[in-house]
This record gives sequence, C-alpha cells and structure tokens, in this order.
Amino acid sequence: MDGPRHDVPRHDVPEPDALTRPYWEAAARGRLLVRRCGACGRAHHYPREFCPHCWSEEVSWEEASGRATLYTWSAVHRNDLPPFTGRVPYLAAVVDLAEGPRMMTELVDCPQDGPRAGMPLEVAFRDGVPVFRPGPGRAAGPAG
Ligand SMILES: [Zn+2]
Repeated sequence: MDGPRHDVPRHDVPEPDALTRPYWEAAARGRLLVRRCGACGRAHHYPREFCPHCWSEEVSWEEASGRATLYTWSAVHRNDLPPFTGRVPYLAAVVDLAEGPRMMTELVDCPQDGPRAGMPLEVAFRDGVPVFRPGPGRAAGPAG
C-alpha cells in the first residue's frame, strides 16, 4: 500500500470559499450547519447564496440537530478519485435531515443486517467531513 499522498487533491473536501467557509469551520468543530431562509422559513443544503425554494437572499446559518433518516444508499465499489480509492467499498447515502434538507453523505458503522430506508441516523464527523451513522434507536418522526 502507498502511504498518504499529498500531491493529489481530495475530492471529499470541497475547497471552501467565502460562502461555505463557515460550514467547513463548524464541521471541523463537530457541528453541522444548514442554511435557513428568513422569507419562507425552509432550510436547505448544500449552502447557497439564495434560498432554492423562493430565491430570497435572506438566508442565514443555523446549527442542525444532526438527526436524519436514511432516504437511499448505494454501495460504491470503485472510485478513482482520492481519497475514495482507498476506502472502497463504502456506502454513499442520501439522508433527510430533521430540518428538512436532503443531503448527500456517507453512511458509516452500518449495522450487520444492513441499512434500511427510514432508519434513524445521527451525524458523525470524519476528518472534518460530516458522515452519518445509525442513530440512537428512537425514530426521527415527523418534523417538529
Ligand atoms: Zn425561501
């Protein structure tokens, strides 16, 4: 096995820009942020300058609960982009955050009997990147 390579870009950690820097700084401290629209009240992810629901610019950061439910997933057996190459197979997942937004992520610590749609999840952080693992038993239930 090769050691860590530092001459290749990582594709799991987007280059932070002025908009997404607060998100990644919070993630590095173990906090998950979403953007909440002050006009229509809906949250969204990934971070955008405008609300994708009503196009208002009145969006601000909010700390998410870190709870989500599993929407769908796919085992990835091949990925030529670092650092995924050394991680296959892994479970690429789409989760519904308790706050509403749907988020592409990775499912970790998957139970022996496998993932199932709707299973409760909670956020975890690996190298400052949000991933999700099975949550503490209780169902997430309807929002609110
Ligand atoms: Zn809005």
